[in-house]
Amino acid sequence: MESELRIERIRPGDKVVALAGNPNVGKSTVFNSLTGLNQHTGNWPGKTVTNAQGKYRHKDRNFIMVDIPGTYSLMANSAEEEVARDFVCFSNPDATVIVTDATCLERNLNLVLQTLEITPDVVVCVNLLDEAKRKKININLKELSKQLGVPVIGTSARSGEGLNELMDAVYNVTNEKAITSPLKINYDDTIEHAIAILEPSIEELLADRLNSRWVTLKLLDGDKTLLKALQKYLDFDLMANISVAKKLKEARDVLTAAGIENDLFRDKIVSHIVCTAEKICAKVVTFESQKYNRTDRKIDSILTSRLFGIPIMVGMLAVVFWLTITGANYPSELIATFLFWVEDRLTDFFVWAGTPPWVHGLLVMGIYRTLAWVVSVMLPPMAIFFPLFTLLEDLGYLPRVAFNLDNLFKKACAHGKQALTMCMGFGCNAAGVIGCRIIDSPRERLIATITNNFVPCNGRFPTLIAIITMFFAGVVAGPFQSIVSTLLLTGVIVLGVMMTLLISRILSQTILKGIPSSFTLELPPYRKPQIGRVIVRSVFNRTLFVLGRAVAVAAPAGLVIWVLANIHVGELSLLSHCAGFLDPFAKLLGLDGYILMAFVLGFPANEIVVPIIIMSYIATGNILELDNLGQLRELLVSHGWTWLTAVCVMLFSLMHWPCGTTCWTIKKETQSWKWTIISFLVPTITGIVICLIVANSVRLLGLV
Ligand code: GDP
Repeated sequence: MESELRIERIRPGDKVVALAGNPNVGKSTVFNSLTGLNQHTGNWPGKTVTNAQGKYRHKDRNFIMVDIPGTYSLMANSAEEEVARDFVCFSNPDATVIVTDATCLERNLNLVLQTLEITPDVVVCVNLLDEAKRKKININLKELSKQLGVPVIGTSARSGEGLNELMDAVYNVTNEKAITSPLKINYDDTIEHAIAILEPSIEELLADRLNSRWVTLKLLDGDKTLLKALQKYLDFDLMANISVAKKLKEARDVLTAAGIENDLFRDKIVSHIVCTAEKICAKVVTFESQKYNRTDRKIDSILTSRLFGIPIMVGMLAVVFWLTITGANYPSELIATFLFWVEDRLTDFFVWAGTPPWVHGLLVMGIYRTLAWVVSVMLPPMAIFFPLFTLLEDLGYLPRVAFNLDNLFKKACAHGKQALTMCMGFGCNAAGVIGCRIIDSPRERLIATITNNFVPCNGRFPTLIAIITMFFAGVVAGPFQSIVSTLLLTGVIVLGVMMTLLISRILSQTILKGIPSSFTLELPPYRKPQIGRVIVRSVFNRTLFVLGRAVAVAAPAGLVIWVLANIHVGELSLLSHCAGFLDPFAKLLGLDGYILMAFVLGFPANEIVVPIIIMSYIATGNILELDNLGQLRELLVSHGWTWLTAVCVMLFSLMHWPCGTTCWTIKKETQSWKWTIISFLVPTITGIVICLIVANSVRLLGLV
């Protein structure tokens, strides 16, 4: 292998140093500062990945520094990772320097720990110390060195600070003046047992040419790209050795008996490394923020505790929903009464003016009526929910939500910050998608983008509330009414979160494979909310913005519905024809043609789905006068709604295509039609499958 990448040693004593690190940690800055103009670049043999080498002299030695590609891991998930791994592994550098970012050490440690499994000759460079200091992050370098068992040097490469010490450390490691004893990661008992079975026969064959424990792990993992590279390096096939093959089978049997098959094996290895990095960081990284005071810490110890964190979060959500639902009922009723009183006056006016009936139809029955429904169904819940949500945001609670969910997201191989992008999605999915920029890893950013639609945005949120209050709340009497509604809504939101986790997990095992990157989540201090700002932000930026958008879309949609309902082809109106066409498929999903059509017409803005359903039922049914919300249930039942229909509408509302604005935003953010289409299809297919299952199981069980 070494012969493939030409490394020019001028004298036999020259030392080769590999320079590794995650992207954007200042690796090039270190490389340039050390090697100056003594560089040349080329390509890695057989790869399009660029390779840079440079020379420097320190004390009495010449060093040849090879800049290996910036990667997050050595798992060979990409060409860069493969090059990096092969160089560290097979080119026997005299030392490997790993540059890390002091401001997010935990994520960076994954690469360090993976490298330590391969070679003991490692020097860790903790760079960007100046930045860390600015952010009030303290790193105990001595303790870190003790934990890792290799030299750790702190630097601020941009100003050249610490580079001399770094060269000293490299000098010592390459001249065996510093004896390292790298941290050995111990996996769980079954895996250690499997390693113990296989390692001796491998150790014998490798004869000190490679770390036998690491090769054993890779054989157990069945990493094909590595096996190929290994064969080339050793010049013989390890697997062809009878004793190795026998022991490998024996070791695999141990794993299989414990249910640890291939993917799970890699998962366990990766999560163990992630956990080890987390534990080390807990010991060496401290945040000194005067503002993060004792009271805050006390509150956090409850709000983010393992035991209470999630229940308190769900409870808090439920309280917000309860306030929204109970609070919205009365004003909704008032607004509806007022707006339909205005409708009657408008009708009087048109009659008085003697305009042709179609003008009155288009303007009043089409446009005005849809607008009236949009305002009365949507405005009250939004006017209550948004200020409450903004209040939690302003208090500083949302980062705690991310903290509580971090573990679950890691298990789903996704990023804890995804929880924050979901919170933004509650406001608006397009905003949530833009919010995904806070996630650095492109893989995890895409997962967050694709799954953002599983949290109902403020367009779908009132749809859910409307269905619940119209359909379910009426069934239960008295004070239980709002409790049942709250539980239902909380259930739907929790289902959305669970689907997000499930789909993230599926994506990260199929089209977006990779390991979760870890990160240091800063918990900002709790702040006293500024009531004025909360009101301005929630009322003007959110409520009125959303309502404005809904009204802008609802007006033309109302017009289209009225026209469709009033142009007849044969016996039936166009509206009935369209609905009839969609009906067979919609019935399979527990919906009907009108509902599915409302979802399709709601593509520009989800807010108008319920109003369209109501309008098309009014247009085709015999209930013409509908001037109070209580009658809505009768309207729905008269069109064949059962509780199953309501449940399926809610499920489909939670899981279907993102609205037009969100799709457009996804295209802009990902710069790719492919990912936009996938983001469209994933929630749609999920929704269709779930509705199919729910509707047909309930029917088969004879529950409706
Ligand atoms: P690479 O992707 O790892 O090669 O990172 P670069 O060397 O290109 O550095 C990324 C950015 O971090 C550049 O803007 C550097 O100027 C900056 N940078 C590198 N080292 C330091 C440092 O120690 N302190 C600060 N504040 N910035 C740094």
